[in-house]
Amino acid sequence: MTRYIFITGGVSSSLGKGLASAALGALLQARGYRVRLRKFDPYLNVDPGTMSPYQHGEVYVTDDGAETDLDLGHYERFTGVPARRSDSQTAGRVYSEVIQRERRGDYLGGTVQVIPHVTDVIKDAIQADHAGVDFLLCEIGGTVGDIEGLPFLEAIRQLANDLPRQHAVFVHLTLVPFVKAAGELKTKPTQHSVKELRSIGIQPDILLCRCERPIPESARRKIALFCNVRSEAVIPAVDVDTIYQVPVVYHEVGFDTEVLGAFGIAGAPTPDLSRWTDIVRRVREPDGEVSIAVVGKYTGLLDAYKSLAEALTHGGIANDVKVNLTWIDSEIFESEDAADHLHEIDGILVPGGFGERGTAGKIAAATFARERAVPYFGICFGMHMAVIEVARNLVGLDGASSTEFGPARHPVVGLMTEWLRGNQVERRGAGDNLGGTMRLGAYDCDLAPGSLVGAAYGAARISERHRHRYEININYRDQLEAQGLRFSGMSPDGLLPEIVELDGHPWFVGVQFHPELRSKPFAPHPLFASFVKAAIAKSRLV
Ligand code: GLN
Repeated sequence: MTRYIFITGGVSSSLGKGLASAALGALLQARGYRVRLRKFDPYLNVDPGTMSPYQHGEVYVTDDGAETDLDLGHYERFTGVPARRSDSQTAGRVYSEVIQRERRGDYLGGTVQVIPHVTDVIKDAIQADHAGVDFLLCEIGGTVGDIEGLPFLEAIRQLANDLPRQHAVFVHLTLVPFVKAAGELKTKPTQHSVKELRSIGIQPDILLCRCERPIPESARRKIALFCNVRSEAVIPAVDVDTIYQVPVVYHEVGFDTEVLGAFGIAGAPTPDLSRWTDIVRRVREPDGEVSIAVVGKYTGLLDAYKSLAEALTHGGIANDVKVNLTWIDSEIFESEDAADHLHEIDGILVPGGFGERGTAGKIAAATFARERAVPYFGICFGMHMAVIEVARNLVGLDGASSTEFGPARHPVVGLMTEWLRGNQVERRGAGDNLGGTMRLGAYDCDLAPGSLVGAAYGAARISERHRHRYEININYRDQLEAQGLRFSGMSPDGLLPEIVELDGHPWFVGVQFHPELRSKPFAPHPLFASFVKAAIAKSRLV
């Protein structure tokens, strides 16, 4: 029977609860257990798809087309288990389910309440769709004490009682700050956080304490005493230099052993962590360096490009180099020359994005990359920019643009109103709701024989994840291909251009999908590996 690990957070947000959950998942997996990880977000949006990247960071898309929290990206990168729609829940989705049930008359005249109706929907969601899993790790978003989080905490409290003995364990992540003036680590915030948790009926089994320096034994004992946990269950989580070291250090301090102990499991196989030690070694001892510029819009908040930054690191791991990233706000190229910022760069990446602001700068970056033979990787919106660039400057189509920005004389990028998903026709219109109506999730793509991307993937058919409303307009294919912009990846029905690449350029590729979502440290994505390789070649030229 599946065992449940509930992970809550206290004291402060941004302590790395998602990463801690992912690392614990990886450790249990390294001991031979099957794991799934889930995220429960207390906000009222139905999903993060409609939120600004500045509010929420990246939107992580699953194969089955759900727009989810970026923590699901950590889970997938650390465990390799593909996330599904059922792995991401928000209060918005929970409440809309309750209201739908009420409208259908399912509650048979009863008064609909947070307990039990909302908590029942949460409990059902926790327990759904995890056949064959040994450990289900459920992370509750937000911080203990948030009003929105209460129904979720109540639901996990109830569920732990519904389950057989020793089938639920509570892990609470807190912060143990170092107060310089006192020269001491302070345990009081942790004490308060646990007090709050206990006041709603949850006694944590394990405390994971984030701190910037080692926690002395005396502080551990104090936390244990005041928080009513065993002192071995107070796990220090000291800052590390690379996130891929987290599973290794958590194991060293006994985190996974304590978790198994809390379930009453003794004598579990020791974990095989060679995969992680190998990655850490490659990250720490690279053979060289390359510099990649990411020219985007949300460069003020790096969480907006979480998977992208990780995938570039993986591209470095694949080539044994360190990838140094320079984040450039594309608007700067509207007043300054691109060459001033890009002349020492080995590769340029224009990531996904929405809306017209900053596009002139992205197009200027594509022009620079094309003319100077600098590797260029355009992802989704970055592909649109590359196609507009080539259409305007090589094909000579004045006014080539995307209808995302209004009517265009030459709509080389436009809204697709109908497309095939397998045998199903999916439709969208310009006036549709914004939430959940993009082309979302995994779609197959056929690669042209002899193409750069065909060689990089070493496959003829691939599957990648999408999240966009606009597509390259196939009616311009002949004109673009005549100038060397080859449509080297197409949807299996031949109607949707998925990849373009520029002949005669060392590496100029645009993809309609988001390859960064599939990259893993132990399985770097072929396009990121190939892009970084091209950047290395470029760096050796000068
Ligand atoms: N804004 C573009 C579209 O909706 C690109 C989206 C993206 O880059 N993910 O098609």
